[in-house]
Amino acid sequence: MSVSMIELKNVSKTYYIGSNPVYALKDVSLEIEQGDFVAIMGASGSGKSTMMHILGLLDIPDKGEYFLNGNNVSNLSDDDLAGLRNKAAGFVFQQFHLLQKMTTKDNVALPCIYSTEQKDYSAQVDEKLKSVGLADRAKHRPNELSGGQQQRVAIARALVREPMIIFADEPTGNLDSKSSREIMEILTKLNEQGKTIIMVTHEDDIAGYAKRIIKMFDGQIISDKREKKAPAKSENNVSMNNLIGQRHSAWNRAELAGHFRQALNSIFSNKIRSFLSMLGILIGVASVIAMLALGEGAKSSMQEKLKSLGSNLISIRGGSAKVRGAAKGMGAVTRFTFKDVEKIQALQPYVAQAAGVVTGSGQIVYEHDNWNSTIEGAGYDYAQMRASVPEYGRWFTREEIQLRAKVAIIGTTVVEKLFGNKNPIGETIKINRINFKVIGILPEKGFAGPRDQDDMVNIPITTAMYRVLGKDYLDSIYVEITSPQLIDEGKQKLEQLIRKQHKLYKDDDSFSIHDMTEIQAMLSSTTNTMSVLLGCIAAISMVVGGIGIMNIMLVSVTERTREIGLRKAIGARNLDIMAQFLIEAVVMTMSGGVIGILTGIAIAGILSHAAGWNVTVTMSSIILATSFSIAIGIGFGFWPAKKAAQLNPVEALRYE
Ligand code: ADP
Repeated sequence: MSVSMIELKNVSKTYYIGSNPVYALKDVSLEIEQGDFVAIMGASGSGKSTMMHILGLLDIPDKGEYFLNGNNVSNLSDDDLAGLRNKAAGFVFQQFHLLQKMTTKDNVALPCIYSTEQKDYSAQVDEKLKSVGLADRAKHRPNELSGGQQQRVAIARALVREPMIIFADEPTGNLDSKSSREIMEILTKLNEQGKTIIMVTHEDDIAGYAKRIIKMFDGQIISDKREKKAPAKSENNVSMNNLIGQRHSAWNRAELAGHFRQALNSIFSNKIRSFLSMLGILIGVASVIAMLALGEGAKSSMQEKLKSLGSNLISIRGGSAKVRGAAKGMGAVTRFTFKDVEKIQALQPYVAQAAGVVTGSGQIVYEHDNWNSTIEGAGYDYAQMRASVPEYGRWFTREEIQLRAKVAIIGTTVVEKLFGNKNPIGETIKINRINFKVIGILPEKGFAGPRDQDDMVNIPITTAMYRVLGKDYLDSIYVEITSPQLIDEGKQKLEQLIRKQHKLYKDDDSFSIHDMTEIQAMLSSTTNTMSVLLGCIAAISMVVGGIGIMNIMLVSVTERTREIGLRKAIGARNLDIMAQFLIEAVVMTMSGGVIGILTGIAIAGILSHAAGWNVTVTMSSIILATSFSIAIGIGFGFWPAKKAAQLNPVEALRYE
C-alpha cells in the first residue's frame, strides 16, 4: 500500500502560560507527498513554527499522531528523535545558526559526527559546499561571509547527510532581496532534484517559489492551495530501523577527537577566562606536588639517617627500659659477657651477627685542647653492623683487639673540637691520660634525637674494658637480624635466651631490647600525619578549584545554549552533548593539572636549590595529581553537562 511521506492525524499542541492554555495547534491533519515543496504561511502566533517543529521532529504533539513513511513517530524517545533528525531531516534557520568558532567546512561537516555511519565525509562536505557555490570559502569563518553566503553554508550543512526532507524556517528572513532570490533558487533546484521541502514564511513572493501553500490561523489550517504540479505519488514505506539507523556510541573516535578539538578551541579562544578558572586546580596541584616532593625528600633523608644507625639492628642493654638511668628494683641490671654474645650469635636463623659494646665517657686531650666525649669499646664486626666503617683511615684489626692495642677512631665532632682543619690520622691523643694513636675518622651520622652521634670515640673493646673503663662486663650487645621480617620473632627468641642464660623470671626487667623499627615507626607516623594534613589541604584546594570549573562550565552552557539547540536539531543525542561538555571540563582541569604539575616541579626545584632542602618529585605524586584533576573535571563538570544535555532543542534554539 502506498502511504504519504508525511501524515499528521488530528495533531494538537497546547502550551500553558500560567494556568491559561494557548492552543498552538488545534486538531490539525495534513499529508505531504515526497518531492513536494510546501510553504506554510500565516500571521505571527498562528502556529506555523509549532507545526514546523513537530514536522521536523524537534517537538512532539500532545495529541494525535504523526506518521513518517508509514511509521508512527509521535511517541519516540529523545534519542530516537535525534537519530531521525540526523538522518531524515535537514534544517535551515532564519538566524543561520552557524558555529562562529568553526570554519565553513567544519560547520558543514557537523551533522556527520552524530551520524550512525562512521565514514569519511570529507568528499561529501566538499561537494555540498561546491553545490552552493562556496568551494573557495571552506577555510573561512562564518563572520567572514555575507548573510547570503552564511545561509548557503547552512543549506550545505542541511544537505550533507542526504536527508529526505529540508525544513526551512523563514530562510530568507534575515537576507536582502538578491540573497533571498539566490537562496530560493537553490531550494527550488534541490526540490527539482527530488528533495521534499517544507518552508515557513510570511512573505508572499517567497511562498511563490513553493508548489503548495498552506495558510494557518489560530492553530488551524485555513487554506491549502496547490500552485504548481503535484509530485507523482511514490512508494514511501521505509522501516523505522532504516529511518533511524543503528544507534551509535557517543564515544566513537571521530566524535571524541572532535570534542577534544572543540574543547581546546573554546579554552584557547577565552584564554584569560580559562586560565582564571583553572587557577584553583593549578594552585592545588602545584602545592600538592611541591609539598609531596618536600615530604618525600624529608622521608628519604630520614631513611638515610636510619641507615646510619644500622639496618635490622636490635640493641640489648642492661637495665630497665621503663625508667631511664635508674632501673626498677634494687639496682637490678643484667651484666652481659662475651659468652652471651656467643650464645646470641648461635641463635639461628635469626641472628646474622652480634657484637658486644662497652660505653663510658672519657676526657680526650690533644696538645693543649681537651674535650669530653663518649668512649665506646667495640669489636671487629661492629664497624659493619653500625655503618661505622671509616671513610678516612681504617677500623682496627682483629689482632689489635686481641692485643688491647691503643688505637682510636674518632667521630667528626671530636675531630672538629680538637684538630680543627688538621688531619688527625697518625696523631697521638690522650684518652683518660692514656696515649692513643688515631687511625681513622668515623663517617658522619648527624643527630639521633638530642644525641650527637658524631661526638664519639671508638676503641678496641678489650682496651676499653681492661685499660680505660675498667669494666669486666658488656654494657650492651648489638644484634643484626637476618631479615626485617624476622625482627619481631627474633626479639622474642633473644628475650627467652637471655632469661634462660641469666635465670631471670618472666617479669624481671633488668635488661631491655630495643629495635630500630620503633624509631622508624615513630618517624613514619610523623610523616604519615604530615601526608594526611597535606592531603586535606590538597582536597580543599581541589574542591575550591572544582567549584570554579563548575561555575565557568555553567556560564559556558548558558552562553552556548543556541549552539546546543543547533547540535540537537542536527542529530546530537543527550549523551553526545553530555560527552562534549564533560570533555571540555576534563580538558580544562587536566590542563590546569598539567600546568600545576610543572609549576610544582619548578617550586620543588627552587626550594631544593635555594634552601638546600632535600626534595624528590615522585611519579606516584604526578599520577595522583593527574587523576585527581581528571576526577574533579568529571565530578564538577557533570552537573553543567547534564544541564546542557537536558535542554529542549526548540527552546534552546530560540534562546537570546
Ligand atoms: P508562529 O510561528 O506562527 O508565530 P508559534 O507556533 O510560534 O506561531 O506559536 C503559536 C502559539 O503558541 C502562539 O500564541 C505562541 O505564543 C504560543 N507558543 C509557542 N511556543 C510557546 C511556548 N514555548 N510556551 C508558551 N506558548 C508558546
